[in-house]
Amino acid sequence: MTRFTDFKTWLKQEKLDAAIVTSPIAIFELTGYLSDPHERFLALFVSAKDNDFLMTPALEVNMAEEKTDIPVFGATDDQNPYEEFSKHIKKEDKILNIAVEYDHFTYGRMTNIKKFTPFSIKEDATSWLEYERMFKTPEQIKLLIESGEKADLMTSLVKKHIKTGITETQLKNVVEQEMHENGIEEFSFSTLILFGDHAADPHGEPGDRVLQDNEFVLADLGVMWKGYASDMTRMFYNGDVASLSEHHKKIHDLVQLAHDKAIAEAKIGMTASEVDQIARDVITDGGYGDYFIHRLGHGIGRSCHEYPSIVEGSDLEIKPGMCFSIEPGIYIHGDIGVRIEDCGYMSEEGFIKFTHSPYLITQ
Ligand code: MN
Ligand code: MN
Repeated sequence: MTRFTDFKTWLKQEKLDAAIVTSPIAIFELTGYLSDPHERFLALFVSAKDNDFLMTPALEVNMAEEKTDIPVFGATDDQNPYEEFSKHIKKEDKILNIAVEYDHFTYGRMTNIKKFTPFSIKEDATSWLEYERMFKTPEQIKLLIESGEKADLMTSLVKKHIKTGITETQLKNVVEQEMHENGIEEFSFSTLILFGDHAADPHGEPGDRVLQDNEFVLADLGVMWKGYASDMTRMFYNGDVASLSEHHKKIHDLVQLAHDKAIAEAKIGMTASEVDQIARDVITDGGYGDYFIHRLGHGIGRSCHEYPSIVEGSDLEIKPGMCFSIEPGIYIHGDIGVRIEDCGYMSEEGFIKFTHSPYLITQ
């Protein structure tokens, strides 16, 4: 309950009356109860006074009560969950100024709750909740390492199934199927398999494009393992690398150099912007700065994208226990897309990778 108590202390310091926390991972960290309520309403009410409660769908009340000492109330599907939620807020506590998670608390929820409880949203609770989550314990890092081992296995399956004539979707499906056979129930995101110039769209969707000889394959993949995500990108080449054009080899090697240099030189005490800059300078000096169109990395843990953001302009200080990706890329529309990605954690010795698959994989 320490984190819960710390959160309440923060509310008091900020002179807030309460917070309504709605993101499932934040609720888990504050209460010990993890749920994916889908479209139903799940919310934790934390008061600067003592009238805290957790509101879940009615069918989850028993499960939640086993995990937390905070009173749990349910709303059945035929009840208005916002009205039910508001009934449990003590009128005498005069809840006026509250914090919510700006990225998660929708305008619809705000409008619906305000019909029953008038309040003003004064502060974003996201930064407090996310900041604390950045520092992983040794136990959490152990699980992230295990999750990384599963991603390495998945990469070896991509290599096994790459062949001329297979489509992006077929390759994705066969790899995911074999991961299921290896005991993986869930992926941290939908596996991204892109061939040739299709990889120039960093968030492209696998489709029925057919793999040709002497083409690149980009595979961006990861699993959920005991609640922890992995995320890795590797480039494969369906042919003999001797057949690579000068231009494509130069682009691939530049991305790898940027990746390796950022991993080797990231140090505790740098800012997130300085870590981004290590990789960005390599790509800019190589003449492709305009084609590195995203930040260097993102945090990873119970979710695949969380704090810290390794991005230009961020003065966030890199500290021990922070876990994030290093994933430079070059994307040239109609020509080529290359990204190389490993996640890892910061230690006194530097950045320690969770994934260890080889680079530029060929048959
Ligand atoms: Mn990533
Ligand atoms: Mn990725």
